[in-house]
Amino acid sequence: MSAISRLRDRMASEGFGAVLVSDPVNVGWLTGFSGTFGRVLVTSTEALFITDSRYVLQAQEEVTDMPTASFASPVDGDVFVAEQAQKLGIAELGFESATTTYLQWQKTAEKMGSVRLKALPDIFSELRMIKSEVEIAKIKIACGIADAGFAHITRMIQPGVSEIDICLDLEFFMRRQGAEIAFPSIVVSGNRSARPHGKPSEKKLEVGDFVTMDFGARVDGYNSDITRTVVVGKATERHHEVYGAVLEAQLASLEAIRAGAKAKDVDANAREILGRKDLAKYFGHGLGHGLGRVVHDGGRLSPTSTDIIAPGQIWTIEPGVYIEGFGGVRIEDDVLIKEDGIEILTHSPKELMVLPSA
Ligand code: ZN
Ligand code: ZN
Repeated sequence: MSAISRLRDRMASEGFGAVLVSDPVNVGWLTGFSGTFGRVLVTSTEALFITDSRYVLQAQEEVTDMPTASFASPVDGDVFVAEQAQKLGIAELGFESATTTYLQWQKTAEKMGSVRLKALPDIFSELRMIKSEVEIAKIKIACGIADAGFAHITRMIQPGVSEIDICLDLEFFMRRQGAEIAFPSIVVSGNRSARPHGKPSEKKLEVGDFVTMDFGARVDGYNSDITRTVVVGKATERHHEVYGAVLEAQLASLEAIRAGAKAKDVDANAREILGRKDLAKYFGHGLGHGLGRVVHDGGRLSPTSTDIIAPGQIWTIEPGVYIEGFGGVRIEDDVLIKEDGIEILTHSPKELMVLPSA
């Protein structure tokens, strides 16, 4: 079923006859448009894409499933949207309550005339959780580029190279493959690897450092998100112990995540495994998140999650252990949930790598 049919079904069940879509993430999901200013008016029978003069040519190429109406200066965008809504006979118009700012709502409401605005629950992030074949194909390409990025960067890891240089080289490599950067890459080493979301610094790699790299590629608006941790020069028993425990939790989570499972149970299983080595106390974040047009998209694998795993969803699985004064390890893969199991979409090696390899 197309995105727009799924949206219409959901609009009907929520009691909305018409909605205005403004969030670029949702606009892109619904139409394929990749510009910054697009609006979509959707009713049970009609759909209209609205943009401004900067994007008319781009919309001709990208928005093929519905007509486009455009405006140019000095016409006001909100007034134009209101006119189009009135032409479609819309009396009440749902807006995205999750992503519309108060100011934007005020400005739009002022110009709507006879059309009443009504807050739409956050149905989009829920709808986006289930991916189409086309979306899955794009995420697979993004995962392939991230894997290639990891293979590329392992050749550079040695004492004396800085975190920021690794980051820049990795990001340049992925962009050169035609991808965008999914999010600012994390490259942290030694003590700094105990910061789960640390920023790469001028610190140079030293023998005995864990190096954690968390990065992703974006292809046609769809993201990958992968983390690998390696050791520089020589691994101690403690490195093996901590890494081994995180890997065990990660592999067990890949076994545990299945259609029908409760997200919080998958998370609890990983915590239980790390607890056996007394490491659960160092695992402060959730086990994973939904992945799609947004890197931390709808869905959480966490102790408080109410999500149920379902076919068509894509999740990250990323247990981590962060020990102040020693360092941290995180291992993250992206997985597609199928009717009868899962497909792991990232394939970079996970046995502990000591670099540079002899
Ligand atoms: Zn990540
Ligand atoms: Zn992640």
